[in-house]
Amino acid sequence: MYNFKDDSRFAGMQPFKEKVWLSSPTMHGEEWKYMQEAYDTNWMSTVGANINKIEEMMAEKTGVKYGVALSSGTAALHLAVKLAAEHIYHTSTGICTPSGMGSGGALFGKRVFCSDMTFDATVNPIVYEGGEPVFIDSEYDTWNMDPEALENAFQIHPDVKLVVFVHLYGVPGKMKELTEICKRHGAFMVEDAAESLGASYKGIQTGSFGDFNGVSFNGNKIITGSSGGMLLTDRLEDADQCRKWSTQSREEAPWYQHEQIGYNYRMSNVIAGVIRGQLPYLEEHIRQKKNIYERYKEGFADLPVSVNPFDKNNSEPNYWLTAMMIDQEAMAPQIRGEREALWKTSPGKSSPTEILEALAYFQAEGRPVWKPMHMQPVYRNHEFVTASGVCRAKTDENVGTDIFSRGLCLPSDYKMTKEQQDKIIDIIHRCFR
Ligand SMILES: *Cc1c(COP(=O)(O)O)cnc(C)c1O
Repeated sequence: MYNFKDDSRFAGMQPFKEKVWLSSPTMHGEEWKYMQEAYDTNWMSTVGANINKIEEMMAEKTGVKYGVALSSGTAALHLAVKLAAEHIYHTSTGICTPSGMGSGGALFGKRVFCSDMTFDATVNPIVYEGGEPVFIDSEYDTWNMDPEALENAFQIHPDVKLVVFVHLYGVPGKMKELTEICKRHGAFMVEDAAESLGASYKGIQTGSFGDFNGVSFNGNKIITGSSGGMLLTDRLEDADQCRKWSTQSREEAPWYQHEQIGYNYRMSNVIAGVIRGQLPYLEEHIRQKKNIYERYKEGFADLPVSVNPFDKNNSEPNYWLTAMMIDQEAMAPQIRGEREALWKTSPGKSSPTEILEALAYFQAEGRPVWKPMHMQPVYRNHEFVTASGVCRAKTDENVGTDIFSRGLCLPSDYKMTKEQQDKIIDIIHRCFR
């Protein structure tokens, strides 16, 4: 472990007394009221007023017709992919619901295009359904799926009928281009809006662009229920199908009648109470996160770095996490293995690993940006398509690998004070000395 204590660049600096978090839950009091209500009325299960209410509130907020409250964002994305798979299967065979026959894996043997630089929960659902993820490279303007790379992928595999994409760190992707490409190729879209609740593109909320969309209420997201997620769709039959799958696919019968494979994915009414209390504070959380983003941007004006970019003309992020990227010329030596990193100090330069370790030493939590899926051992044999074509060797140039090596997520907690943030900005300045 590097000895920051004796590094003269940090002389006289003390660690934070209390840890500054990346993004921790921020409660306001009303959460307690709705949890208590669930308790007092004994709706301590996966049925109740809180669930119904937040499904309504979320539909209204995102402008989507139906919301189905689920146990996690991952569950929402799984059922979103499964719904798309059922439609694809139905279109190609004329047969309804293969899962109804107990087969599951409705995507068996099918390729699916998906974001490369993201959390694995975006892409794992494709594998749950037997599909084969083909990773699409990112672009530098928003760090999301590159439309050019997606178009390339369709040239190579014109038969693909599903695209799964994410809005990273609350920044909307290039929706005009991406939706146009999907439409032209007759592909369904699943949108992972787990990190982008409240963010919009041309005034339209994220979570409403895909045919089936997932959001998350995990503990570190902009609004939390401690856990939880929601599927959003404009299609009534699909919302009903999703609700049925999520409650073990019980049919209306006097006994437990099962005509399809089911899941235990429904949200608890207690958790829905927390979310019900949180949702009215979404805009306030976004305002605070935006302040944090602006302060970092200003604080780094004299450093060879940039904060994570967005399309100022068309999109309004939710600023969930501020991330930064070090200019190529200002990168100090850094080598990452599968589980460990080596780095060296270098005057006027720094690296994500140095900054992250310095922040950790001073009791502040940062994080590397998502390690691209094509670099993950579990997915390394999968196809990976960039703007210039199929990326065959890991050493081939691509945007995802570059952002991963030069980028990091900064402490972006709602409750971080201005003084704490100033000190974090100071620590990062010192890393570049
Ligand atoms: C958090 C997250 C998820 C999964 O949500 P959970 O509620 O934790 O299951 C999916 N995708 C992305 C991009 C996320 O950040």
